[in-house]
Amino acid sequence: MRRTTAIDRRVDASPQPAVKILLAEDSAIYRRLIETHLKEWGFDFVWAKDGKEAWKLLGKQDAARLALLDWVLPEIDGVELCRRLRGRPDGAPYTYTILLTAKSRKQEMLEAMDAGADDFLAKPFDPHELKARLLVGKRIVELQQKLISANDALHFAACHDFLTGAWNRAEILGFLQRELARARRDVTNVGIVLVDVDHFKKVNDQFGHEAGDCVLKEIAKRLVNALREYDGVGRYGGEEFLLVIPGCDLATTVRRADQIRELISSRPIRTSTGTTTVTLSMGATVAESSTNSEQLVRSADMALYQAKHNGRNRVERAAAVPVALAAGQP
Ligand code: GH3
Ligand code: MG
Ligand code: MG
Ligand code: MG
Repeated sequence: MRRTTAIDRRVDASPQPAVKILLAEDSAIYRRLIETHLKEWGFDFVWAKDGKEAWKLLGKQDAARLALLDWVLPEIDGVELCRRLRGRPDGAPYTYTILLTAKSRKQEMLEAMDAGADDFLAKPFDPHELKARLLVGKRIVELQQKLISANDALHFAACHDFLTGAWNRAEILGFLQRELARARRDVTNVGIVLVDVDHFKKVNDQFGHEAGDCVLKEIAKRLVNALREYDGVGRYGGEEFLLVIPGCDLATTVRRADQIRELISSRPIRTSTGTTTVTLSMGATVAESSTNSEQLVRSADMALYQAKHNGRNRVERAAAVPVALAAGQP
C-alpha cells in the first residue's frame, strides 16, 4: 500500500457517487414491481436472487450502501443479513437496511430491528411509502458519506504538511519509531536522511516567498517520486525534509541519498516569477537493529552540518548508531 506520504493522496474532493441500492428479492413478481419503481424514481440498483448472492455483493468494495432486503430469502434470510452487516468490524462502511416482508406483527418488527434493520416495510406496500422510506435511507447514507469525507480530510490535515502535502514532522517521526520497532523485530536496518535546501533564503529573496513555497512543493514532490512506496518523506522544518528508508544499510542509504540529490538539482524548477535550480545538503545515518529515534535524527543532523561545512550540495554520513548504545533506551 502506498503510504499517505504520497503528495498525490490528498483527500478526493470529487462529488460523492449517487447512492446505489441493493435489492434482494426472490419473488419474481415483487422483483419486477420494485425494479419498475426504482427505475421510474431514477435509483441506481443491483439485484440479488438470494441471501448468499446479496451477502457477496454487500462485501464488494463499491457495494450498495442502501439495502432493500426481503425477509424470507433462500440461503441467508434478510434478518440474518442485517445481523451479519452489524457484526462487521468497526470501520466497515455502514449499510442502511430496509426489511421487506409479508409479516407484519409487532413482535416480528421488533425482531428485525433487534437484528440491526433500520426500517421495516410490510408487503403488500404502497409505492409512495416505499419511496418515502428509500428517500430517508438515501439521506442517511449521504450524511454518513459526508461525515466520512470530513473525517478523512481532518485525518489528512492532522498528518500532512499543509504546504507540500508530505507528512508533517510528528507523522514522519511516528513512522520512524514504528520502523525502528519493526527493525528490532526483524533485525534489519533503517536508513534516515536529513535534507536541507542550500541557500534557500536567496530563493525567497530573489523570486519572492510565494515562489519559494512553489520550490518547496516541487522538492517534496520529487522526493516522494524518487523513493519507494514503503519509504517515508516528511517536512521536518522550514526547508528541511526527513527521509526514512527502511531496510537499507549505511552504504545504500548514502548512495540513494546521493542519487536523489543529483536528481533534484539537475532539473530546474519553474515558478511564476522565474526559473531556478536548487542544491541540497544531506546528512545520512542508519540504525542497526534498534535505536532511539531522537538519537538517530541528532546523528543525521550532525552529518548534515558537516555537509554544509564541507561546501553544500553533498551527502555526509554519520556512522551507524550501534545497538549497544541504544540498549535500555525507550
Ligand atoms: P543554508 O544553505 O545554510 O541552509 O542556507 P539557507 O538560506 O537555506 O538557510 P537559512 O536557515 O538561513 O534560511 C532558511 C530559509 O528558509 C529562511 C526561511 O524564510 C525559509 N523558509 C522556511 N520555511 C519556508 C516556507 O514555508 N516557505 C518559504 N517560501 N520559505 C521558507
Ligand atoms: Mg422472499
Ligand atoms: Mg535549514
Ligand atoms: Mg537551508
